[in-house]
Amino acid sequence: MKDSNFLKENNARSIWHPMAHPADSRANPPTIVTGAAGVRITDIDGHEVVDAVGGLWNVNLGFSCQPVKDAIAAQLDTLPYYSTFRGTSNDKVIELAEELRDFFAPDGLSRAFFTSGGSDSVETALRLARQYHKIKGEPGRVKYLSLKKGYHGTHTGGASVNGNANFRTQYEPLLPGCYHIPAPYTYRNPFNETDPERLARLCLAALEDEIAFQGASTIAAFIMEPILGAGGVIPPHPGFMKGVRNICSKNGILLIADEVITAFGRTGSWSGSRHWGVQPDMMCTAKAITNGYFPFGAVMIADAMAEVFENDSSGKAAIGHGYTYSGHPVGAAAALACLAETKRLKVNENAAARGAELYAGLQALAEKHDIIGDVRGGHGLMCALELVSDRATKASIDKPTIATIQETAYRAGAMIRISGPNVILSPPLVLDSADVQTILSALAAGFEAA
Ligand code: PMP
Repeated sequence: MKDSNFLKENNARSIWHPMAHPADSRANPPTIVTGAAGVRITDIDGHEVVDAVGGLWNVNLGFSCQPVKDAIAAQLDTLPYYSTFRGTSNDKVIELAEELRDFFAPDGLSRAFFTSGGSDSVETALRLARQYHKIKGEPGRVKYLSLKKGYHGTHTGGASVNGNANFRTQYEPLLPGCYHIPAPYTYRNPFNETDPERLARLCLAALEDEIAFQGASTIAAFIMEPILGAGGVIPPHPGFMKGVRNICSKNGILLIADEVITAFGRTGSWSGSRHWGVQPDMMCTAKAITNGYFPFGAVMIADAMAEVFENDSSGKAAIGHGYTYSGHPVGAAAALACLAETKRLKVNENAAARGAELYAGLQALAEKHDIIGDVRGGHGLMCALELVSDRATKASIDKPTIATIQETAYRAGAMIRISGPNVILSPPLVLDSADVQTILSALAAGFEAA
């Protein structure tokens, strides 16, 4: 390996990082990760810490999953690539589609369209939604509704339904016909409502109001994360997604569940939709489908929607969409092995149990540190702390204080993610109670230093 100085200098000289100012890596050099094992990562300077970010919400099984490594190596030896565009398929992707059909049967989803990642999955679902309505003879249904604070990746369709200005402003104009509904975000909302159930009702009323204003016959789909993730881990009241489902069904609008983070156990359930007792029309997956071992994703499609495409005789259902790597056999082999391990280890159960410990520990931290304005979690291993400079006014925290917290926590043993004013925690689902305590004590050190 090249030495530490060489890597740091060349990183600053040659790499533009996602979600960062290009000059930022000079002023604030990134942590250069050179190794990982279990739930820990090692950096170029020899620090070893618990990865409380879980890669980027994706390394659910940790970094040393031998069956996945074996499956990838074996697939590279037999068939490293072949496309699934019209006229060809491959054995692995068929096997995977069957496994996913079983896994997502309780969600009412039975067909898979494969992608190379989360943004691709979102783009696929948005496009299939419009196509569905055209096949059905409602070509005017072209608009999309979504939640403020929602994150749906960075392709232009996804960015258009994203509900966070940071990912939109510099890229406008985005797609026309995208409208945003207030999020069920109890800590801050335009209604000043502090009761989650009443807030859910207000947001649902806002959704109905927007549908009436736009005209239901102009709307193709509503897309939402079952628990808002990148927007700051915002779990809604348990009845919220069901309410959305009912409103969508009543108005002929497709419900797309963006489960790029929540599918495969992170919430403590096998999917976020199942967590809330909802069956979506499409589900976007990626991330933990291959645990970060290979870029891959799948859009799962409900029977009723699939049948509209499959029974079409007009030709409108021909899918003019797809990626070179849709159904990549190495990705499919990785996904098959991940799914088998995910089920064998019942990672959802560990996510629920360890998630409860983490959430309780964070609540205890909030009792000691006024800088913590809000503690969010309680649904598996997705937690966040929203930091403030003043609890009473909820005034925003300054960047240097956040940087001190992050750096101190890292030196004390945990990689945490900072997103705006939020500390985001999404560790691998296979961590144990001692790892949870390491994360909590590292955070405590960070808050003491702030
Ligand atoms: N949707 C959601 C809910 C996500 O959290 C993400 C990524 N964090 C995406 C879409 C985009 O996924 P990717 O970065 O793999 O394109």
